[in-house]
Amino acid sequence: MARYTGPVCRQCRREGLKLYLKGDKCFTDKCSVSKRNYAPGEHGQGRSKLSNYGVQLRERQKVRRYYGVSEKQFVKYFDMADKMEGITGENFLKILETRLDNVIFRLGLASSRAEARQLVNHGHFMVNGRKVDIPSYLISTGDVIEVKEKSIKSPKFKELVEGHQGNVPQWLDIDSENLKGKVVAEPSREDIELPIEEHLIVEWYSK
Ligand code: SF4
Repeated sequence: MARYTGPVCRQCRREGLKLYLKGDKCFTDKCSVSKRNYAPGEHGQGRSKLSNYGVQLRERQKVRRYYGVSEKQFVKYFDMADKMEGITGENFLKILETRLDNVIFRLGLASSRAEARQLVNHGHFMVNGRKVDIPSYLISTGDVIEVKEKSIKSPKFKELVEGHQGNVPQWLDIDSENLKGKVVAEPSREDIELPIEEHLIVEWYSK
């Protein structure tokens, strides 16, 4: 399945919750889920009871949309998680959390994962002193992520320095003045706030 290119807010309405895909708008009363919390389309207001298959499918789509990951990458991450020691579902979510675009978003260096992907693609970030322009790059504990010296002088990042609140999850650390982040630990399951029943995704791929 290719990456979705339709109206962004429609994805949240389809999943029935905020996926925080549009940056600042998500925190205002302009949010489409706040205004119309029912599925898009002609029959959207009459949600029918889902089968087991439908419940698993929706959970998978919700997580895929939240992280902005293609189906192909999603399957690849599941295979990786399945081969790791520990609980497959938790491993799977941890892999998604450690994507560079997600880490940049979590560090407050972009207003959404989509914006983080774009900024990474445009080559604004370095990991451990080397330019990385691959949003799916998986970071590790101890990695240092920073905005390139040339980019930090741009209006976009100057604005970020001024407005940065310094609030990051406990597995990350940020030097807000220099927009320099560090991964201090592995993300834990509790760090993922979106309500996810990952066992449904495991069941889907274990068929
Ligand atoms: Fe989702 Fe944000 Fe659009 Fe609200 S504003 S529907 S949270 S993308």
